[in-house]
Amino acid sequence: MERIHFSIVVSVYNEEAVLQHFHDELEKTIRQLDYDVEIIYVDDGSSDGSRLLLDRLVADNPYAKAIHFSRNFGHEAAMIAGIDHANGDGIVCMDADLQNPPAMLPQIMSLYAEGYDVVTMVREDRADGGWLKHITSGLFYRIINRMSDAQLQPNASDFFMVSRRVAEVLRKDYRERTRFLRGLIQTVGFRSTTLAYRAPRRAAGHSKYPMSKLARLAFTSIASFSKAPLKLGIYSGLLFGLLSVALIVYSIVMWIVDRPVGGYTTLIIFLSAFAAVLLLVVGITGYYVGIVLDEAKGRPIYLIDYTTKEKDQ
Ligand code: UDP
Ligand code: MG
Repeated sequence: MERIHFSIVVSVYNEEAVLQHFHDELEKTIRQLDYDVEIIYVDDGSSDGSRLLLDRLVADNPYAKAIHFSRNFGHEAAMIAGIDHANGDGIVCMDADLQNPPAMLPQIMSLYAEGYDVVTMVREDRADGGWLKHITSGLFYRIINRMSDAQLQPNASDFFMVSRRVAEVLRKDYRERTRFLRGLIQTVGFRSTTLAYRAPRRAAGHSKYPMSKLARLAFTSIASFSKAPLKLGIYSGLLFGLLSVALIVYSIVMWIVDRPVGGYTTLIIFLSAFAAVLLLVVGITGYYVGIVLDEAKGRPIYLIDYTTKEKDQ
């Protein structure tokens, strides 16, 4: 029987502090595997020593290559580029900071061998980030699952495996500029399963995802999965319509009983609440228009500067 071939895609952005350690750990795991493996490092426009270090690491390694972006395109773009350039029957995406333990690879790979097309890795507990990340992440999945038809696994991570045919769907059909990859792979169907793991602290270096960037990621993810926020205009319109009818009736009654309503306070409250909702709705609509604009431009998701050791496999 032919040996199964796996691709391991590793996103790297300014990870010089941890790269060598990560690479050694990965190598250690790979040596014990009974599969063929290729490692694809995707350098997402690093400005530290990661670039040179990667080139050195892959030069010494017959089954590794490094793709260098022309600038920083973001973690998702890095994973997509890795998937685009992978030759494996199964493709595993993982972080370079050892928060996605290479020791889990044998289990993931045996799930592929059992016939699974998608393996979503679910964080059981996270050693870093603290309670704020924990609460906001829970809230995020609650909201996105409420708003969209898709049901996403809470605590899903950017550590996952897809089979060749799912990768093919991602390469050809799912080329959205605004997307949420770990959500997308849970909506393609096929045989899919989850696997729990413990995420340790970052081995070295620091997180590239502060709360502000995470908040932005949350908004774009919700917008890419759901049109529900666009209905806010309709609902708030109805609400204010009802409110104004009530106010009219109230004013007429008070006028009849000869105690006309003093208008100023009511007017100010009503107007400012109305203006706030109106601007919010305009903002949300604008956000979606921006997404459509990005799609219309059709620019590439990433640009490659150079690839170290591109070879035909
Ligand atoms: N990363 C990337 N591009 C970016 C930011 C991060 O490729 O713009 C990589 C980073 O090098 C790491 C992974 O994505 O391998 C996850 O990032 P990080 O560990 O900073 O996120 P956290 O685990 O703190 O959410
Ligand atoms: Mg991390």
